[in-house]
Amino acid sequence: MSALAAIGTYLPPWGSEKARLGGLDEDALTMAVEAGLAARSASDVAVTKVVFISRSLPLVIGGNSAVLLAGLGLANDTEVIEQVGGAPAVLDALATAGPGTMVLAADLDEGAGAGAALIGPGPGATVTSRGRVHRSLPVRAQSLDGVLHEDDDPRLVRERGTRASFQGLALDAVPFVVAGLSPRETAAFSGPNPPVLPATGAFSAIFALAAAAESGAEQLIVAVEQATASAAALGAGTTPVVRVEPEPHSPEKRRTHPGPDIKIAFTAYDRAFDSKVAWEAGECPSCGTLALPPRHRCLECGEEGTSVLVALPRTAFVYTQTTIHIPVPGLSTPYSLAVIELDGVGVRSLATVTDSEPDTAGIGSTGRMVLRRVATRSGVPDYGYAFSPDGIVHRPAYVEATISGGTR
Ligand SMILES: [Zn+2]
Repeated sequence: MSALAAIGTYLPPWGSEKARLGGLDEDALTMAVEAGLAARSASDVAVTKVVFISRSLPLVIGGNSAVLLAGLGLANDTEVIEQVGGAPAVLDALATAGPGTMVLAADLDEGAGAGAALIGPGPGATVTSRGRVHRSLPVRAQSLDGVLHEDDDPRLVRERGTRASFQGLALDAVPFVVAGLSPRETAAFSGPNPPVLPATGAFSAIFALAAAAESGAEQLIVAVEQATASAAALGAGTTPVVRVEPEPHSPEKRRTHPGPDIKIAFTAYDRAFDSKVAWEAGECPSCGTLALPPRHRCLECGEEGTSVLVALPRTAFVYTQTTIHIPVPGLSTPYSLAVIELDGVGVRSLATVTDSEPDTAGIGSTGRMVLRRVATRSGVPDYGYAFSPDGIVHRPAYVEATISGGTR
């Protein structure tokens, strides 16, 4: 019997309660890794297959799988399926997944964020399909011409989209929550007081499951995208939910300075990939010294060509830091750079400070090393690790004061 071994959620720290915005160095892939690591932290089920569902895949040609696996700390021979889809596709994938499958969903539009659900042999709450219906009402469409076509008619979508698809599902109960709809539409098709989901994209289905798991009762969940709908029942069982959902803050105010594109060097990209994206150091087998990035010759004992890659800790503190204000072509300024020291191993590394306003993570600040898109070269996202401070510090929000007119 397949069961939900763990659920992980991720929301970026920018935007508002209504709609989160991905940071300048985030994309669907880095957010999926955040959610996936959250789920993995709560379960020891070995991941043998990854299904990554999004409508914002970073690369359409070129592949996202290697980065996804390295970021999740999984072997590069793990099966990966990259799937274009919305919330119904996520429920379907979970209801048919076998033990060892991790279903990841992430979106940049319509509220940014990600969710991960790990299927294990049990214990945990079971997910069973209660039906699906594929109907066509493409009121919002993007075909190969790349142009987004929208014909927003809320009544048509409600009646001929959602309501007609609900009839097609022929459910025997009112769902606990409907993923893929606005909070108002969700309330119209759900039972009393449905949980408010932070978005309408693919990952909203995993947030619906998380809320159902936290409710402690068996629940029926529906996911809708235009006129396609899927239903699943969450059975009895306990599933841990790990949420990485910092408070939202106003979007980053940084200026991007145009400049010449720094060309990608694929030989250097290839050489650095494993250490850089999997967050691994070279360890000298003779004396145990760690080198980041890995070196051919051990600086401690002189041993040559024998170092092996070992995983590094993902928590660190700021050893020293500085903030760059001068415009840098192709980059957004201001931003902070820190020399961070990794917990327990004494390894230091230079890293960009992310998730916070520049100049707010002082010396001694603790935090996590997170996978981010550190640059884009020749149109190719270049991934690496940035430092995300704990208790993310933001400057006070700008308050707009309204002064009502009066007489004196
Ligand atoms: Zn050595």
